[in-house]
Amino acid sequence: MERKDREEGACLERGALYVVGTPIGNLGDFSPRARETLAAADFIAAEDTRVTLRLLTHFGIKKPLLSYFEHNKLEHGPLIVARLQAGETCALVSDAGMPAISDPGETLVAACAQAGIPVYVVPGPTAALSALVLSGLPTGRFTFEGFLSVNKRGRKEHLEAVRGETRTMIFYEAPHKLRKTLSDFSKVFGPDRKIALCRELTKLHEEVWRTTVGEAAAHYREQEPRGEFVLVVAGGEAPAAPQQGYTLEEAAALARELAAAGLSSSEAARQAAQETGYRKSQLYTALLESQSP
Ligand code: SAM
Repeated sequence: MERKDREEGACLERGALYVVGTPIGNLGDFSPRARETLAAADFIAAEDTRVTLRLLTHFGIKKPLLSYFEHNKLEHGPLIVARLQAGETCALVSDAGMPAISDPGETLVAACAQAGIPVYVVPGPTAALSALVLSGLPTGRFTFEGFLSVNKRGRKEHLEAVRGETRTMIFYEAPHKLRKTLSDFSKVFGPDRKIALCRELTKLHEEVWRTTVGEAAAHYREQEPRGEFVLVVAGGEAPAAPQQGYTLEEAAALARELAAAGLSSSEAARQAAQETGYRKSQLYTALLESQSP
């Protein structure tokens, strides 16, 4: 059934939450329906009211704002739900892109769903999918990994969990953490793994660099990373059936012998993988672990 707001542009359902996507850089990506929804809502729940105010001012929209972000969501979430239950209409936005994608919103949508409040989406750009389609990597199956944790243990667990991932992986990263992340990727996925570094999408200095993890890590050791990045990493090879007679320990020992004979770690892992049927990345990691103090 066609809903009223779709037929008439700006007539929203009373007591409903509208999750509205906003541009990730280029204001031309702000859809007419998104503008109409913000203009028609009774109030807007915004991640940072100053950022949203700038957007509204640009488009000549005046609307009461209520902040809704990580550190006040437990307090403001129930307020929003109560106002929706009283029949008001709320538009939810984040600073850029789709709310609830590495941004506040997930908890509010869940609370509305729980309370039987209708929730509608006004889709807009999201950096993750924009990067994926530009990456040149397989798009048929992918995983969204968001940000790696700043907490050492959480970060290690996350990286361990994706070590054997065969689907394309999408990561968000802040520029000041890019070097560390590329260095960790090199250890976990190996330096030859394909990666697309998608920077400043839809903005003046938009750039997509399709390279390997090793090349990217080396480049950014010399170059200061600037701007916003999405890292799209190729999935690993599907596990090969190990050749009969080789345990993983024996295959790793073979890789160590080849490295001791003078081959680079990467080449030693490749040859040992070819011989034993284990994945190169598995043996490369085992080799690095055996070399670390
Ligand atoms: N909700 C947003 C979305 O739908 O994409 C993501 C918000 S998250 C807090 C911010 C991260 O998204 C940045 O650190 C960066 O990884 C990515 N990002 C946002 N805008 C971007 C852009 N224009 N180009 C590249 N990456 C971007």
